[in-house]
Amino acid sequence: MRVAMFSLHTCPFATLGGKNTGGMNVYVRELSRELGRRGIAVDVYTRSQNCHIPAVRWFGQNVRLIHVQAGPENGLDKNDLWQYTAAFADGVRRVAQEEGLHYDVLHSHYWLSALAALELRQNGWSTPIAHMFHTLAALKQEVEGFQEDPRRLRVEAEIVQQVDAIVAATPLDRQHMLDYYRAPAERIVVIPPGVNLDLFRPIPKQEARLHVGAPCEPCEETHMLLYVGRMDPMKGVDDLLRALPYLVQDLPDDWPCHICMALVGGDSDSSDESLRQEMDRLQDLKHELGIQDFATFLGRREQDELPYYYSAADVCIVPSHYESFGLVALESLACGTPVVASRVGGLTYIVEDGLSGFLVPRGNPPALAQRIGQLLADCGLRRHMGGHGQEMAQQYGWPSIAERVLELYEELIEG
Ligand code: UDP
Repeated sequence: MRVAMFSLHTCPFATLGGKNTGGMNVYVRELSRELGRRGIAVDVYTRSQNCHIPAVRWFGQNVRLIHVQAGPENGLDKNDLWQYTAAFADGVRRVAQEEGLHYDVLHSHYWLSALAALELRQNGWSTPIAHMFHTLAALKQEVEGFQEDPRRLRVEAEIVQQVDAIVAATPLDRQHMLDYYRAPAERIVVIPPGVNLDLFRPIPKQEARLHVGAPCEPCEETHMLLYVGRMDPMKGVDDLLRALPYLVQDLPDDWPCHICMALVGGDSDSSDESLRQEMDRLQDLKHELGIQDFATFLGRREQDELPYYYSAADVCIVPSHYESFGLVALESLACGTPVVASRVGGLTYIVEDGLSGFLVPRGNPPALAQRIGQLLADCGLRRHMGGHGQEMAQQYGWPSIAERVLELYEELIEG
């Protein structure tokens, strides 16, 4: 079997934790690798953003990353990319022609990639298309103060009618597609994203703290709170910063521990203007709230480093306003660290409220503070919830998730 995976707007190897690089990059990379291990030939196509990077490179067994030229070879705002989807499709067709390749399945990611796959269909390719949205414009639109491109809303509603299968991350994700886009129910299959269980596993706290070093003293007397993720208003980092004063104020006078919060992700020196602005805004908020002694923005970290951060932390917080899945919550649980998360989207499936962490209403800093405080005050509860979470995370290993994706491909091929 030969599969073409489309990740038009972002390369699966782009540095993670920027404004636009996160779960989807990880998903495409890990799924492709796992399929490759099973003998499936996978070509991952992405738009070239740098003419100095080789057009083709292998990553993992049977898996290639192919950069195709579609528009200027530099980073562009993803809202400007729809005009290059036809050029991207042309690039894919050229590679297939030159190498005499026939793909059995096209698997597109994010609405822009689906447009490219449908472009190929219009031009005579009969290859079945499986699509995963990763985020839905209709849902983002509902988050207060957020304005989504109306073109994307319209196009997503068209995509659900035209592709052969849609992969939903959770039953709720599926329901949203039915409610907002009237998607054909029989074409939606629920397959959650996976987690790399070889990488994300508990590391003894002392060792992990020594490894991560500052900002938290590597000692028992420090409580470490952790945020990991993109620096995007949708992620609710504001709420987390605003929760800190409530947390500190509610601590009993004889509280024995120092509290520090590490925020991983983003980059204040980024060449991306909008990311820099977002980082500046969050830094200003931190100073406004007078919590500079408690919270530190660390910038991005490689994924290989993250198990140390999750294991060093006492609690991981995922305060998102919208989350179609929420890999960070799953990674933290896989490392045995309980999670306090907003009660939105995929997080409601990953975090079992009261068992592996707590769910709180979105946009509610006092509620976040209350649950974080409860966990910090009770070491036994943290250990119990972390253990439960780690056990639960085992069902999300990539081998079993890839198996389900493969079954879907086989069904599509059989027609
Ligand atoms: N991530 C990372 N380094 C960072 C920040 C994030 O490797 O500095 C990774 C993290 O491990 C996770 C992904 O980015 O796998 C974020 O995925 P999630 O589903 O939580 O959020 P999304 O970015 O899809 O909104």
